[in-house]
Amino acid sequence: MNLSTNNNIETRITYQGPIERVVVQFAMRAEAEPLIEKFELSFYSLVDRLPHLLFAKGKVGNIELHVVTHGTDARYEVDRVGTENATLAAFKAIEIAQPHLIINAGTAGGFKLQGAAIADVYISSGIVFHDHRIPLGAYREYGNGNFPVAYAPHMIDAISLKSGVVSTGNSLDVLPADFEQFRHSKAAVKDMEAAAVAQVAFDQGVPCLAIKAVTDLVDEPCNVGEIFLKNLSQASTALTEKLSRIIGVLAQGARLESL
Ligand code: SAH
Repeated sequence: MNLSTNNNIETRITYQGPIERVVVQFAMRAEAEPLIEKFELSFYSLVDRLPHLLFAKGKVGNIELHVVTHGTDARYEVDRVGTENATLAAFKAIEIAQPHLIINAGTAGGFKLQGAAIADVYISSGIVFHDHRIPLGAYREYGNGNFPVAYAPHMIDAISLKSGVVSTGNSLDVLPADFEQFRHSKAAVKDMEAAAVAQVAFDQGVPCLAIKAVTDLVDEPCNVGEIFLKNLSQASTALTEKLSRIIGVLAQGARLESL
């Protein structure tokens, strides 16, 4: 695994040893549950002011695997999707688990233009924001994020993952201005969390990548909410299958540079 240096910023990652602790972060409980069941992880919660965050952990081969989900919103009884919750969950998970790798896993909208199809599973070749438009000098690129990502060429081949740019924003629907950004970044998939997780991970010196399964196609006119629900189960199955294989590789003992 290499660290992509697509923005020429020195990474803060200093750890060179084996990957022994891994966090997989999901926004939605339905996305996380199959993995928690498969690896028989045990739930634990935090005795602090963030009781909605749901944690599970267990030993898988050589690694300690932690799963964190954003939990349910107490007022609206929906999963707490989006960047604010992603930032908080990533920060807390890194504090608790001290991971050598954090994976933001979940579903995403895909771009047909980039060859995406329903239930394809992507690994991030780059992670950007598309709804942080700040046309003001260096703030423009600051807004775009363009975070360094851990990139695993051997794993891409061995597990047959697609690879592409993950673009994050806080809306499920899209505005014309978003399409400008997608063209600029050559986005393959669009989600609501990856860039927030990547930013926290970068700040904390933890390698980060995103694994996203396609539930809907952004550049095909549709009711995105309906299509999302129709394909959620198929995409979640594909996501769990690929994640299980990734965890299988990590569980055998791996270093970042060998992935
Ligand atoms: N309709 C869904 C809401 C899901 S919100 C429900 O009722 O449960 C969308 C979640 O899936 C976010 O966590 C986001 O990361 C991901 N996602 C899937 N498709 C997306 C798309 N087209 N655009 C943005 N996020 C998407």
